[in-house]
Amino acid sequence: MKIKRAFILLFAVLCLAAAAVWAGSGIKVSVDGAYISFTDAEPIISNGRTMVPVRAVFEAMGAEVDFNSKGTITGKKGNNKVELFLGSKYIISNGIPAAMDTAPVVIGSRAFVPARYIAEGFGYTVGWDSQSKTVSINSKGYAPAPVNSTPQTGNKNVKLHFIDVGQGDCTLIEDNGHYMLIDAGETEYGKTVVSYIKNMGITYIDYVIATHPHSDHIGGLDDVINTFDVKNVIMTREEAVTASFESLLDALEKSNASIIEAKPGNSYKLGLSSFRIIAPDKLDDDSNNNSIAIRLSYKNSSALLCGDAEKDEELYMVRSGENIASDVLKVNHHGSSGSSCAEFLNKVHPKYAVISVGKDNSYGHPSMNALSALNAIGAEIYRTDLNGNIVVTLTGSSASVSVSKSEADERTEKTLYNVVLNTNSKKVHLSGCDSVAKMSAKNKQIFSGSVEELIEKGYSACGSCRPF
Ligand SMILES: [Zn+2]
Ligand SMILES: [Zn+2]
Repeated sequence: MKIKRAFILLFAVLCLAAAAVWAGSGIKVSVDGAYISFTDAEPIISNGRTMVPVRAVFEAMGAEVDFNSKGTITGKKGNNKVELFLGSKYIISNGIPAAMDTAPVVIGSRAFVPARYIAEGFGYTVGWDSQSKTVSINSKGYAPAPVNSTPQTGNKNVKLHFIDVGQGDCTLIEDNGHYMLIDAGETEYGKTVVSYIKNMGITYIDYVIATHPHSDHIGGLDDVINTFDVKNVIMTREEAVTASFESLLDALEKSNASIIEAKPGNSYKLGLSSFRIIAPDKLDDDSNNNSIAIRLSYKNSSALLCGDAEKDEELYMVRSGENIASDVLKVNHHGSSGSSCAEFLNKVHPKYAVISVGKDNSYGHPSMNALSALNAIGAEIYRTDLNGNIVVTLTGSSASVSVSKSEADERTEKTLYNVVLNTNSKKVHLSGCDSVAKMSAKNKQIFSGSVEELIEKGYSACGSCRPF
């Protein structure tokens, strides 16, 4: 059965590749004015129809895409659903079958679909400008920019997604159709990581790095390896007799991934960026100091990620002579007090520091030491416990950060229990605050409820007891 299926797909590839006029077609596709950056497959013309790489275009319209082994391509967006079938000239658009003049094709392992039919299935209108060779896909309410405005060129940035996995580490690097995942949090976060990656429409991962065998790093990796087509896994020779390490090995055994031993000085290309292994040079008794450290660079922007490295490994990196200066640092070991030593931070000198850390964790991470050391070098600090998922963009010349929740949101979402309101001064106090004792009884009111509600009523927090 499997062989037959593979043969059918291969057959489709060979036949239809011949009918297609190859890339370099110079066709641009915009969705609501934003040009899609086609990194590994450009639109083609087949039988006079513009065919677009399925994933890039579906994603640009905010649709989820699923491509099964029988050659069915399903795109979903809200209540709209379109289904296409490789080699078949009909489409089921929102339950209604319709004929197309071209069939979806697979060329070089990429599926191409006729742009018009899928866009219309999602309620977009489709236009074609022959002079600029642009297919413009616009949603109903979209008003195009004036013609003389400069068109946005393709987005070629490299993004680091620091996925919030509570007390653990997980970083996904997205580089123009190429992906790398460094760690995946504890076992119970495997599903969170898988769905985050799935929501981005990703089916394969070029590199997975298991920094070191602690469960807050490798716990969720088995789910990732079992779900996605992982090409390479980079790890050290360190083993652990733990359930999470065993599950990782089981997943590796079942997968087709190649295993690469981390060796300092080795470099690998991702999409437009590349990464270099900085450490470890040898294995220590302390697993944290065996963490694989990499420096990712994209033109003149860079990021350094070193797992749970502590001072010993940090000093090794400082003395190794490797370039570790970086715009972005994933703070070592969740900001523990034994990491982020001054020699290391001075050399890295990041503009942005991201701490992956669980809310109210029992380790007391991040430590005051690490936070003040980061402050001392002027780094802007982001934390997954306060900011949720954090996305850092490397532009090639600099970096920028966006977060899924701001600290302000975090504050207003908070629920307070039995705080004391001063109805006269409109201040909120913790019951133990000195000012509560001095407050006159008629102004005093006990309150439980959300901060948001208090702010709406004009209350603010006492500056000394800081109830929120
Ligand atoms: Zn850790
Ligand atoms: Zn660790």
